[in-house]
Amino acid sequence: MVYNFGAGPAMLPAAVVERIRDEFPDWQNGLSPLEISHRSAAFTEVTERAEENLRQLLQIPKNYQVLFVQGGSRAQFSMVPMNIAGQTDRAAYAITGIWSQIAYEDASQFVNIDICCSNADSEALSIPNEKTWYLNPEHNYLHYTDNETINGLEFARPPKTKATLVSDMSSSLLSKKIDVAKHGVIYACSQKNIGPAGLTIVIIDQSILKKAQPGTPLLYDYHSYIDSRSLINTPPTFIWYIIDLVLQWIVDEGGIAVIEKRNNKKAQKLYNFIDRSDFYNNRIDPQYRSRMNVPFQLADPQLDKTFLELAEKRGLMQLKGHRTVGGMRASLYNAMPEEGVDELIGFMSDFAAERG
Ligand code: PMP
Repeated sequence: MVYNFGAGPAMLPAAVVERIRDEFPDWQNGLSPLEISHRSAAFTEVTERAEENLRQLLQIPKNYQVLFVQGGSRAQFSMVPMNIAGQTDRAAYAITGIWSQIAYEDASQFVNIDICCSNADSEALSIPNEKTWYLNPEHNYLHYTDNETINGLEFARPPKTKATLVSDMSSSLLSKKIDVAKHGVIYACSQKNIGPAGLTIVIIDQSILKKAQPGTPLLYDYHSYIDSRSLINTPPTFIWYIIDLVLQWIVDEGGIAVIEKRNNKKAQKLYNFIDRSDFYNNRIDPQYRSRMNVPFQLADPQLDKTFLELAEKRGLMQLKGHRTVGGMRASLYNAMPEEGVDELIGFMSDFAAERG
């Protein structure tokens, strides 16, 4: 058995991979899901079911639009300000790690930005207390990154603010219950908990939408996606087909509440093991530790290479940490079964006993 701890593209549920294998050569009348037209009745069924399941799983209110957009979450860093703010407006960005920093840099071309808090001088190990944030009634919206995939930090709850909340939930959407109605925009790329890479889900309160900024290309204008039901151009149909299967899998597993409980248990197990060990270390402030991405360091970084080689021999794949943080990172998305975490802890324990 192989367990994939990669941060994205990430592990898919085994049941979904098996179903893709079975349907791959003949899904509809002898056609593969790779070959089907995005205008066909069969594909329309896929897009409608995917949206319906997503709405039901996340309890998305009726006044919210659900869009499927290409360009990854990174495209949203620009699309958000282009569509909900004017060029002279002000927005607040919470800098809590590498992804929020990039979101801020990209967005600053399209809106004036105040950094309302930053953890850059504390190596992104914690999130500044909200009472110290610089917020101002002029802010058109407040952007936060719910889960910092690289740094391994996660908000315990959305920030409290009167401004419209915009959240990058790339690595946490569908992993826990969320209150959509507290947000103006939520976006998440597909390659973590939603499917393979290729589509980004955007959930947006229709009432905060503005006319896109002058010069916005058609493909960066949310109205294009609303008006065409996200078929403004040819979408990655195979990815959409897989997203539909993943959403059906979550429904079959019992929904978000069941998934969230499982995720909490998996993360707790791994953090407990790391905290009890003298050999492994996670430095993130415990109240903001990510349940999805668990970075950890070995007592002796010279052993990193051997650790990764031996882990792969045990079927524990893609544990290398991001190059900017170093060490290891175990991503525990929805598709990772608890047995995968048990295997990892077993291996880490053996490794520490032999080399510690
Ligand atoms: N935000 C977060 C939190 C991410 O984890 C990622 C990708 N790892 C991105 C944005 C960028 O996503 P994409 O590569 O799809 O543009």
